[in-house]
Amino acid sequence: MPADQYGPRLTVQQARDQISKARHLGYRPSVRKKGVATRNLERVFSTIVTVDGPSTRDIAALLDLSAGTVSALVKDLEERQLVRISAGRAASQGRRPKPVVVDHRTRHTLGFEISADKVVGVVMNLAGQAVLHQVADLGPEARTDKEWVDEDKVVDTIRNLFNSLEARLLGRIRDQYPDALDQGPNPVVGIGVSLGGHINRHTGEVLFSPDLRWGATGNQKEEWGPSVHLRQRIRDVTGVDKSDIVVDNDANGRAAAYQLYGGGAYFNDAPFTVVLVTEKGIGATHFIDQEIYRGATGKSLELGNTLAKPDGYPCRCGDNGCLEAMSTRDAILAVAKAGSLEEARKLADEGNDQAIRAFTQAGTYLGTGLSVLVDLLDTSRVVLTGPAITRADGSSPVVFDKHYDRAMREALQEHVYGRGIDPGNVEVIEETGEWNGARGAACLVVHDMITGHLGL
Ligand SMILES: [Zn+2]
Repeated sequence: MPADQYGPRLTVQQARDQISKARHLGYRPSVRKKGVATRNLERVFSTIVTVDGPSTRDIAALLDLSAGTVSALVKDLEERQLVRISAGRAASQGRRPKPVVVDHRTRHTLGFEISADKVVGVVMNLAGQAVLHQVADLGPEARTDKEWVDEDKVVDTIRNLFNSLEARLLGRIRDQYPDALDQGPNPVVGIGVSLGGHINRHTGEVLFSPDLRWGATGNQKEEWGPSVHLRQRIRDVTGVDKSDIVVDNDANGRAAAYQLYGGGAYFNDAPFTVVLVTEKGIGATHFIDQEIYRGATGKSLELGNTLAKPDGYPCRCGDNGCLEAMSTRDAILAVAKAGSLEEARKLADEGNDQAIRAFTQAGTYLGTGLSVLVDLLDTSRVVLTGPAITRADGSSPVVFDKHYDRAMREALQEHVYGRGIDPGNVEVIEETGEWNGARGAACLVVHDMITGHLGL
């Protein structure tokens, strides 16, 4: 077989052209070009973030590094005020190594979740706790007369929330740790911003958001606004360096929170997927080597807007029959002939056929969609979480209701290719705590720090 069967190899010029084409999308190759020392620093930090109080020796064993190397890296992280050696009491039985913990005293990340009617902001410490929060309504006047949400109004709202939260954070640190602000790095490690839609994480541009009606495409008419360079605009009003701001999809934020602070199997190296189920939407996030896979321009895993039924229910995105239009609240209510999910659940519990059919049908759509996802990604685990998870019957958490959950699992196993996925690896996890969306946005900063996209 001739070596040039597929044509000649690239010329240097062609290689250059390919690189510039990829750069044009905003795509940057993975940051692994950095030295081993930096990568190890990230790994040690991620271990301290995700594991509860490991000792230096524990970290060395988990990461297959020498204790001396880990000690030096921990010292470096201490100087950056990211971690500290816990003062912790000496254990009653003999001497035990002191745990290394995240330093939650001064350094914090800010998270903002934008939706059509409000912006929610939180300040999160590096232990994953939302210590301050604030909500600002966008109000009806935020809608332009063309129906999309006014970009300037959103940016102003974020500026006001940022100023207020930052001032409150500094006040809090001064009260609790009077000397902490005199020296050391900026208490604000970074800003995470999340919203539903297609966001180019590399450039920080919101290319398309059905909620805000940003980013008109062929499917929309004049009632949509243009795409928005949100990261640049947030930089302008907060003064925070662009390289410390992450703008990303809301599902990615929730998934990062699960991965880092939700017992999310950070050390389970096999790729896994987190699916966010809300009353109106389905989002998904895939982790490869503990890093969120974002695709060429940030649209990857847009599961909710894949086609489930040609000519099905209209979807927020302008298309018809998308998975989220067929498998969430409105689809359930249309078939159940109910006014609310609570009512539909009650009807189904009472044995009402139509309500049971509504949940079963919608659950079957989601399960079928998940079977495609499992086949495409060969994912090791599917974790479903989000506001549509409930425990109404007092037992294990379910998606929407028990009929929905069962139908979803059955359709997934029925349609998956070949061996499929172990049913035990399809987990439904209840969200705990409030402010989850904004906290997820704050978690994106930490995720990007430990994967080398933001500086430590
Ligand atoms: Zn859609």
